[in-house]
Amino acid sequence: MHTKHLWIDGKWVETQRYEPIISPFSGEKIAMIAQASVEDAEKAIVSAQNAFGQFKKVPAHKRSEILDKFVSLLYQRKEEAAKIIANEAAKPIKIARSEIDRTIQTYRFSAEEAKRMYGERIPMDAAVGGEERVGFTMRFPIGVISAITPFNFPFNLVAHKVGPAIAAGNTIVLKPAESTPLSGLFLGELFQEAGLPDGVLNIITGLGPELGPTLTAHPYVKKITFTGSPEVGKQIIGNAGFRKVTLELGSNSALIIDDGIDIEKIIKRIIEGAFSNVGQVCISIQRIYVHRSLYKKFLEFMIHQTRNLVTGSPLDENTEVTAVISKKSIDRIALWLAEAVELGANLEYGGTIEGQVMTPAILTNVPHQAKIIQQEVFGPVVSILPFDHLEEAVGLINDSRFGLQAGVYTNDVNHAFYCINHLETGGVLINDIPTFRLDHMPYGGIKDSGIGREGVKYAINEMTIEKFVSFHWN
Ligand code: NAD
Repeated sequence: MHTKHLWIDGKWVETQRYEPIISPFSGEKIAMIAQASVEDAEKAIVSAQNAFGQFKKVPAHKRSEILDKFVSLLYQRKEEAAKIIANEAAKPIKIARSEIDRTIQTYRFSAEEAKRMYGERIPMDAAVGGEERVGFTMRFPIGVISAITPFNFPFNLVAHKVGPAIAAGNTIVLKPAESTPLSGLFLGELFQEAGLPDGVLNIITGLGPELGPTLTAHPYVKKITFTGSPEVGKQIIGNAGFRKVTLELGSNSALIIDDGIDIEKIIKRIIEGAFSNVGQVCISIQRIYVHRSLYKKFLEFMIHQTRNLVTGSPLDENTEVTAVISKKSIDRIALWLAEAVELGANLEYGGTIEGQVMTPAILTNVPHQAKIIQQEVFGPVVSILPFDHLEEAVGLINDSRFGLQAGVYTNDVNHAFYCINHLETGGVLINDIPTFRLDHMPYGGIKDSGIGREGVKYAINEMTIEKFVSFHWN
């Protein structure tokens, strides 16, 4: 079993305390991981602050070149990277590989966007008194960024922070999730090899509650970019003061299936949206509102397809269903499932538990107030509910603390626009599942689902200072 230290100022740095990380599927110890102290976090922030002095002068073409070189290095080590995810996050190897493909794409977009940090020209003479002036904006890097990330996409959600930060000329202190530190630590040496100056990317592992206050409130930190739970997001906002903050938080995403839809055509995609990575996806389908005319048939299709999913080790090529991240997580999901059934829901399929693996569960007749509807399940559970009028389904979707993305399958363009106009979510996906995300599209939520947007170009906007210039030529 190997031991992993902290990556600060381009070197591996030892610390006082180390903890094992455990495979969620096999229960085996994978590695010993450094648990950074507050002093280590400060050291990493100072290293990032010192590096910023030089890195902000590195031109865009050079930053782009470093990101390009990193892409080719990661490409050569794709399989190794995918295995890290499969081992520490229990993600089936097939989808771990597709996460690495997406990660490569996110860094590639970052390399491209580094060269497109445009400003805007303001027609100053449109206002009386603006004559003989030219107005324009310029984007400048913000400085040290604290990036705090979750376990469920340990490579690509890190890429959504590290890629745009480097593209924009910032420096970073990254703190990956406690359960998936190896994915984060993998980047340090690889970026060094790609030519990233020491201190631009620092990676510290350890406990969020212990390191959070320093990472979010240190005076050198100018921006916090966080992906994780709303509960932690709230604490971060509390600490951040007037710093810029991006929060990508949770959801209980919903899908509408309107009258007249060909279910057979879309069923596989819906199964993927509900149960991929055993529902541990922030835009996983948690609620499906189906027009009553299709409801019975749809439920039969769902049960049939779910039955065919292959359960097993994350390292087996055919596995589709495997362990959730922790014992605490499986216990909570089981509790919410039991509560829903007690409130009158029918468990139509699944829900049996072995170790940390749950058979994907399908519920019907679930009361709207049940936690399994209202809160974020983050597990393999989907509720299927009938509706008669579109307004009713949209109203139920909106009656939620969350608003990340919603999906709508409809053949009626007026219904599509009704949903676009009325759904209270950051994204509406017509004729698609809410789980659809490309890495360059604007992505983010409203309500408790977050603040700000990611998607490489949008993340760069949030990681830069837009300065206005008025140039008076007379
Ligand atoms: P989490 O909130 O438990 O942890 C996320 C990160 O925050 C970890 O690195 C953790 O160490 C750190 N942390 C914990 N306490 C902290 C504190 N007090 N201060 C600062 N940092 C702290 O989330 P998780 O269980 O790893 O991930 C699941 C959550 O992430 C779900 O809610 C999911 O919806 C959300 N998520 C959102 C998106 C999105 O893009 N909107 C994407 C993926 C996951």
